[in-house]
Amino acid sequence: MRWSNYFLSTLREVPGDAEVVSHQLLYRAGMIQKLAAGIYSFTPLGFRTLKKMIEIVREEMDRSGALEVDLPICQPKEIWVESGRWDRYINDGILFHLEDRKSGEFALAPTAEEAVTDMVRRSVTSWRQLPFNLYQIRTKFRDEIRPRFGLLRGREFLMKDAYSFDLDAKGLDVHYRKMDAAYRRIFDRCGLEFAVVQADSGAIGGSASEEFMVVAETGEDALVFSDAGDYGANIEKAETGPLLEPWAGEEARPLRLASAPTPGLYTCEDQAAHLGTTVSRIVKTMIYEVVKADGTAGVAAVIIRGDLEINEVKLPKALGGLHARLLPEDRLLGVAHTRPGFVGPLGLSPFEEKPVPVFVDRSLEKGTNVYCGANQDGTHHANVSIARDVMTLPGFAGVVEVATAREGDPSPTGRGTLKIKRGIEVGHIFKLGTKYSVAMKCEVADQSQKSIPIQMGCYGLGVGRTVAAAIEQHHDDDGIIWPVPLAPFACAVVSLQRDAAVVAAADRLYEELKAAGVEVFYDDRDERPGVKFKDADLIGVPVRVVVGGKALARGVVELSTRREKAKHEVPPERVVEIVRRTLAGGARTLAL
Ligand code: ATP
Ligand code: MG
Repeated sequence: MRWSNYFLSTLREVPGDAEVVSHQLLYRAGMIQKLAAGIYSFTPLGFRTLKKMIEIVREEMDRSGALEVDLPICQPKEIWVESGRWDRYINDGILFHLEDRKSGEFALAPTAEEAVTDMVRRSVTSWRQLPFNLYQIRTKFRDEIRPRFGLLRGREFLMKDAYSFDLDAKGLDVHYRKMDAAYRRIFDRCGLEFAVVQADSGAIGGSASEEFMVVAETGEDALVFSDAGDYGANIEKAETGPLLEPWAGEEARPLRLASAPTPGLYTCEDQAAHLGTTVSRIVKTMIYEVVKADGTAGVAAVIIRGDLEINEVKLPKALGGLHARLLPEDRLLGVAHTRPGFVGPLGLSPFEEKPVPVFVDRSLEKGTNVYCGANQDGTHHANVSIARDVMTLPGFAGVVEVATAREGDPSPTGRGTLKIKRGIEVGHIFKLGTKYSVAMKCEVADQSQKSIPIQMGCYGLGVGRTVAAAIEQHHDDDGIIWPVPLAPFACAVVSLQRDAAVVAAADRLYEELKAAGVEVFYDDRDERPGVKFKDADLIGVPVRVVVGGKALARGVVELSTRREKAKHEVPPERVVEIVRRTLAGGARTLAL
């Protein structure tokens, strides 16, 4: 392709709303354009890369035995009501929805569990028709709150979504492992450094769920790894091994409850300093409003060690609800008669005539001689024993695990300590079980003619997000450094002058490379060399051939890779052979 005939404009300026490198570089390289917040057009150059990603995904899905389908993006409300997701998604604000001329309501698919389940229940009646795995590579819509990271978080974006259908859990496990293997091959082929971590299964439940994470500092997710190498989890899900307990050995001889003044001290840190103790001995008490699946709401207290934070993702499930949010201060007064800072589990007022349920985080299960708020301004209780004073309350509701893992905590596997890295979620595999098949009556007759719901799995992969994640991992100050499999073109030919000898030599190399099957982008524009070099760096094509008058007079042209940039002079006859070998080797170093 000759640039003079192409549709491409690069930009020097970084757009104001582009916060992450992949967004900045895709935009500056002229590969995407913004039509609206979170909604992007792909230019011819950008679409070449997207198509490469699509093809890698398609090849590996086909290789795994999955079957490609094409499900509607515009979906009737009725199937969403059947699955129970309509209200939840509308309340979360994530669903793009619309009305037709007859006032029928529709959703633009954020995923396609309902549509695929409907397809299967219409045509499958017997266990003999199972198993299978259906996938598509199609646009999805989500009205994300913060669509500010370019292709990493679009409101309209391309996802590969697959759905497996099995008679039993054993079959589901086989599909799950096949998808795991396919995803590993896909991200390997893209040249990405990735990790597979345990993920939260959300309010939906489901037995297993793992995320594929591209490790990058700009990642929105925090990932927890054991330095012994045997544990990885999203922080939303991560657990820890037993923590060191400051009260170890004191459990058998708890002291008598006493009062401890903490005037004007609102934080656990200030209180601990004033009381001459460690933050881990201060009990933090949080009062939440918990909304259940049936829409009813109640309150609950959660107590946790002062040096730990509550994990807001683990919390709702632990409290038996769908959502949990901190009780606003005006309502807190009705339960605790004091401001945050002095709230405690002892002496809370009943809520709607029932004692407030008190949940104890595991970190405090054995807590002895600890301090907690006395539900009175500026006052704490000292020498609280959780077993003696809290677990005997009429409202005591159980021990839960809701702490956020911290760097340096012991690994839950018993080996090593935890480290935290950041990552970008590019894929997610999930054992759904029978959630959708029960709700939507997607059943088959089993071997004994009994009707049973089908076991389902769902497997998502962000196609555009993976392209952006590749840039987050592979770039420098000058631009993108494409891994060969995702590069829009494999080789750039750059002519430095317009004189006949240079043009003839560059034209010839361009034709020879094309004839050899190399995807070439030929910068034949009438531009200054400096401009051409800057653009080539920005666009990041893996191998570059520069044809300039002076070198040509000496019988050579200049070769380099985008990654290493070191230039080598070679005679034009050798270019095709070296370029091909360099590309075959991944284009880090020139294969001279
Ligand atoms: P996130 O937590 O990042 O919002 P998610 O867990 O809601 O993502 P899934 O429902 O698991 O996303 O979707 C499957 C895959 O689709 C994700 O792993 C991700 O790669 C991709 N994806 C999800 N949301 C977006 C988005 N807004 N823009 C681009 N890709 C997305
Ligand atoms: Mg996910």
